Parts: sequence; structure tokens; C-alpha cells
Amino acid sequence: MKYGIGISFDGALARAGLFDRSGKLVARASAEFSGEGRAEAAEKLAELAQSLGARTGKRAETLGLCVPAAVDGASGEILRWDGAPDMVGPWRRELSRRLGMPVQLAGCGNAAALAEARFGAGKKYESLVYLSLGAAVRCGAVCGGEIFEGFGAGGVAAEHMSVEVGGVPCACGRRGCFGQYVSGAALVRDTKRAMFENKNSALWRLAGDADGVTADTAFEAARGGDAAAQKVVKNYIFYLSEGILNLANLLHPQAIVVGGEIAREGEYLLEPLRKYVGERLYVGCDSAPFAIVRAALGEEDALILGAFALALL
Ligand SMILES: [Zn+2]
Repeated sequence: MKYGIGISFDGALARAGLFDRSGKLVARASAEFSGEGRAEAAEKLAELAQSLGARTGKRAETLGLCVPAAVDGASGEILRWDGAPDMVGPWRRELSRRLGMPVQLAGCGNAAALAEARFGAGKKYESLVYLSLGAAVRCGAVCGGEIFEGFGAGGVAAEHMSVEVGGVPCACGRRGCFGQYVSGAALVRDTKRAMFENKNSALWRLAGDADGVTADTAFEAARGGDAAAQKVVKNYIFYLSEGILNLANLLHPQAIVVGGEIAREGEYLLEPLRKYVGERLYVGCDSAPFAIVRAALGEEDALILGAFALALL
């Protein structure tokens, strides 16, 4: 294979990249979607892939597609997509038929995990768990260079691992899921709550009003010494650490790679995280080296690169 295409499709926007075998990006393209059914969406994605070939004169031989959904990589089917139930179905078959090339599918967490493992912060590790801390939480695990998918189940859905039994309700139907405590949305929720409980907090000055709160607000105020914000950040790191401890105790990866918007906090986030986790690992770091590192690839590029890399497996 000389060239391959990776597409990241979230239901509203598809971003595509044409890559050479080494993972070097040759060209990009994108397309917007609004209300297409599965067949029309597949047609439009096929056209997007073809446009890259036509524009560059390079013939792609494989296509990888990642979506924010539960995917069975073996059959190439989308099993569950909250927010886009019409998209559930056999995508590999549809796209292969239209494009006449092999097609691989993965959830976004798995694709980004693979990109970090192959080309990013995970290159020196045999096994890793990738956590993307953005508006939502995504997760993927790579072991021995391959995505750990489990049996037809889409892989490690850490966002739905309980960290607080009976806690905050989740779209999956359970309560207390990890994603409900460590996503950007959770951070915004907790920051707003802290603001209303602390009328003199610097959070008000930074955010303007409650609607101005972002996932950065609490971190920024905490760095500046605001006590209410520091409490929000400490609570955030507590849940993140407990979730990472669960993952480490269950899977014993060599590394946890932390990406997404909130990972931009860098060492301010990672240092206390490492300390908390290191002190509580059941099999400690001394006997089973375990690293917590920041993702090296930009979130969006990790998705198209990871989708492309699916075909390299
Ligand atoms: Zn859940």
C-alpha cells in the first residue's frame, strides 16, 4: 500500500486526510453533513475520499473511518451511536462497494489511541490506554500494536466505567460513569456550581458570568490561587486519578496517554495525577513501570491519522 485515506466523521462534519505509508499527510479535505440518512452519508463520504485522489493524482488503496460511536471493527458495523441512531449499520460493506477498496472502521477513541501508539506519545510503549478529555471523554487501548477491542464490543469504553456508584446519571442508563466526572462538560458544571457557592471567587472575574465558563476557567483561576477554583481542580483530578487507577489495575498498560482539550493544562494536571496514582497502584510503579504522559498529536489529526492507520494493522 502506497497511499491510504483516513476519515473522521462525527455526523455533522467529515475530515479526511490522504497519507503515504509512513503516515505523512499528503492532502486534506472536508465535507459538511445535515440530516443525510446512512446511504446518502456513505455516498458523500465515498465522494470525499475520491476527491482526494482526483485532486492529488495519488491513488489510495485503503480507507479507514472513525466515528464517535461503538463500532465492531471485525465486521465493520456501527453498533450504537447516541445522537445518530440512523447511522447504525454495516458501513464497511457500503463503503467498500462504493469505493472498491478495503475499508476499516473504529470508534474515535480507538483510532486516536492507535495514532498515538504508532506515531505519537505511545511509540515507545507496547501497550497503552489513551484518554481524550474533551467536551466528552473518549478512550481506547492498544496492546502489542493492535487495538484491544474485546469481543465485538468496540473496545474499552472507560467513559462508562463507574467511579461513583449511584452518582451522576449518564446517557448509557447507569449512574456515576467516569465520563460524567472528567469531561469538559463535567468541569464546566462543577465550575458553575463553585461560582454560585462562592460569590467572591476569581472565577466570576474570569468567566464574566456563568455562561462564560469553559473547561479552562477553573484551571486558570486555580493557578492564580483562587481557593474555590483549586477545590474544583482537586476534585477533578481526584476522579480522573481514580478512573486511571481502575484502568491501570485492570489492564496494566505501560502508559496512559492523556489527550484532548483538558490535557493542554500540561504538568499542572499531570503532576498531581501521577502522584495520586503512583501512591495507590496495586502493583506499584517500581515493579511494573507505568507512565502517565501527554498526547503528542493534535486531537483532530490523531483521528484522521488513526483512521488511516487502521488499514496498516
Ligand atoms: Zn455511562
